[in-house]
Amino acid sequence: MSFDVAAVRDQFPVLKRSFDGKPLIYLDNAATTQKPQAVIDAITDYYTNCNSNVHRGAHKLADEATRLYEGARDTIATFLNANSRNEIIFTAGTTEGVNIVANGMAQILKAGDEVIVTELEHHANLIPWQQACERSGATLKIAPINELGEVDQEAFTSLLNSNTKMVSFAHISNALGTVNPVVEMIAKIREIAPNALVTVDGAQGVAHGDVDVQALGCDFYAFSGHKVFAPTGVGALWGRESLLAEWPVWQTGGEMIKTVTYSHAEWNELPYRLEAGTPNIAGVIGLGAALTWLSQFDAKAMRAHEQSLIDAATERAEQFDGMTLLGRARNKISVLSFVLEGGHPADVGFLLDRQGVAIRTGHHCAEPLMNKLGVPGTARASFSIYNNMSDVDALFDALAKARMMLL
Ligand code: PLP
Repeated sequence: MSFDVAAVRDQFPVLKRSFDGKPLIYLDNAATTQKPQAVIDAITDYYTNCNSNVHRGAHKLADEATRLYEGARDTIATFLNANSRNEIIFTAGTTEGVNIVANGMAQILKAGDEVIVTELEHHANLIPWQQACERSGATLKIAPINELGEVDQEAFTSLLNSNTKMVSFAHISNALGTVNPVVEMIAKIREIAPNALVTVDGAQGVAHGDVDVQALGCDFYAFSGHKVFAPTGVGALWGRESLLAEWPVWQTGGEMIKTVTYSHAEWNELPYRLEAGTPNIAGVIGLGAALTWLSQFDAKAMRAHEQSLIDAATERAEQFDGMTLLGRARNKISVLSFVLEGGHPADVGFLLDRQGVAIRTGHHCAEPLMNKLGVPGTARASFSIYNNMSDVDALFDALAKARMMLL
């Protein structure tokens, strides 16, 4: 099945924009994706026709809003192949999802316990674990990467033992594009560290593949809506129902309670016990619309299209004078991270922007990884399903001009 990229592009109004007469070439998708008309319409429709608070309303508008909101939970459960809709906790994004898990672990961990992350992690999947270990007295271990930017599987395996209580790692690295062998890593964890829980940071994973949490075999999977064509400020944490049902509550307040007295409160059932306060209703509805929209495409064809973009960009990069690529993982998607000789990444970003090409520069919220790679940051072009080969050409044409200006 082929992937009709022109038809997909047509559904993203912002891609029709131009700046100073130059068409927008949007290559900052690892930071956030653009939104298709279907998502924009779903949010507009909610605010136009159905705006109301959810769950406790005694009127039809509240019923409609609740139906849309809870419908999105069903959509996400199906999208991730969850066992039950109770396993979907709405969050503000990956950061909150990881924090819910890490905050709970901080109350479970004790001195002598070990938590493992990798050198690839975004700060959102590093700092919560630093904090959890600091609070509990547990030890944080960091699995190293090899020269290709892949998690060194031998070194990773050697860190696992019966004291390992949590292993948390990215599905796909936002800084280097490395796709981790999640299933294989979890198989090793189950074999050598049977007391460990596994969290997958799915911020970059959901937009680039067929995520099946049961097939992956993790215990928690956190993602952000805005990386997958949905609004910012909304996401979901998937967790095994048996774990979430007992998980230490994250925030307390309305919605997450069953009964309250002046001195005591009892928590609600799943999924509400981990969703305190009025939620981001429009965001959740937008997230449901985004995943429904995305589900219409053949996952294999979509992935093949994205792979063709990163493969073409990598080939061009290898021939580009003065360019050093960072991250040469054998399984890699979407992200081209590089430095240009003679140009700070920020200067490269500026010179590309002047030509209508939007990329990201800096440490990509992975400062320890940049230190490890010995660079202050990188320039990062990241592709999505609506990018095409003309975008790859435009990137390298703009880079050629930038290089001339930097020399
Ligand atoms: N993890 C990874 C791998 C990411 O790329 C990001 C965002 O860039 C995050 C976590 C944090 O996501 P958010 O800021 O949406 O919570």
